[in-house]
Amino acid sequence: MPRPPVSRLPKPASMRARFKTIRARLFLLRLLLPTLLSAALAGPAFAEKTVNTADRTPPPLELFQQSETRLFQLGYRLATANAPFCDRAIKVSGLLIHDADSYGDPAAVRRLFHLSDDIGVQAVAPQSPAALAGIRQNDTILAIDGKLIADHWPRTDPRWQRSFALRDAIDAALARGPVEITWQTQAEPPRTAMIDGVPACPTRFELVDSKANAAADGKRVLVGEKFPGLAYDEAAFAAAIAHEMAHNILRHPQTFREIGWKRRLVRLSERDADRLMPWLLENAGYDPSAAVRFMRTWGPRHGGWIFRSRDHDGWDERVEFIAAELPKIEAAIDTGGKADWSRNFESELSAKLADK
Ligand SMILES: [Zn+2]
Repeated sequence: MPRPPVSRLPKPASMRARFKTIRARLFLLRLLLPTLLSAALAGPAFAEKTVNTADRTPPPLELFQQSETRLFQLGYRLATANAPFCDRAIKVSGLLIHDADSYGDPAAVRRLFHLSDDIGVQAVAPQSPAALAGIRQNDTILAIDGKLIADHWPRTDPRWQRSFALRDAIDAALARGPVEITWQTQAEPPRTAMIDGVPACPTRFELVDSKANAAADGKRVLVGEKFPGLAYDEAAFAAAIAHEMAHNILRHPQTFREIGWKRRLVRLSERDADRLMPWLLENAGYDPSAAVRFMRTWGPRHGGWIFRSRDHDGWDERVEFIAAELPKIEAAIDTGGKADWSRNFESELSAKLADK
């Protein structure tokens, strides 16, 4: 599969660029006016910063944001570090947005996160292009490629659709080159930057409310806000996410949608996802044996007898299969410090399917 070019040169300065600068200034003025007006009218509303937050219990939405940030940052790290080996790598910026309007009480969400409009920054991955441009959590996104959110992406019904449309728009822009983002930190003047993407395996990471499991649907890794792995240390949690990501990398959801969910083959797909875990961890700079640790912690409680005779191996067997990969990873690490699983990992499911 051809991959998109790794980088693009910026366009030469031109009349169009100059026009863009003028347009950007007018645009900024247009953005600033309501802020200045509302700041003048609201006055003391911004004083809440002085409230002592040391020993309060964070509200549920803040806890949700903390968990989704953890998931997103870790997912970004796994997806970008393994990009050289992923088919169909995409470009990502390390920016996760959310839409206040998609929550039960949009005004409360805007107030809680100090957003000046609906589209907030839910998370930013450390050292990502978005972070380096200065975008921070709970900034408000005002425009994408010069298009005002309010004008080009009005509220939708169902309400969750808008944030998906915006994520798609940013991804599509990054596939073509840098994306221009205009954002605002609380009442500060809006800022605009061109943000370039970095290659990543094509999986999105999303926290899902009220669920307790983790799943992969081919394009996304979905983690319930009550998933036990969220309480584990970072590397063990990363192992759980790597397992789900492995299902997407190995195209398991797509394969089973085609051939049907045959129990014996599903079992092999689970084993493959387990065995790919430590490879993905190694490349992202985690200790690959965290995959073994994860299974030892998670397995006895959640991977036990229910699955034993069905889709999954017993957790103790799963530990053995994962541990057996560690020396193979060690042997595969190249001079660049990466373990190329696209060449060195042997999929049992693929072998079985090829056998037929
Ligand atoms: Zn699985």
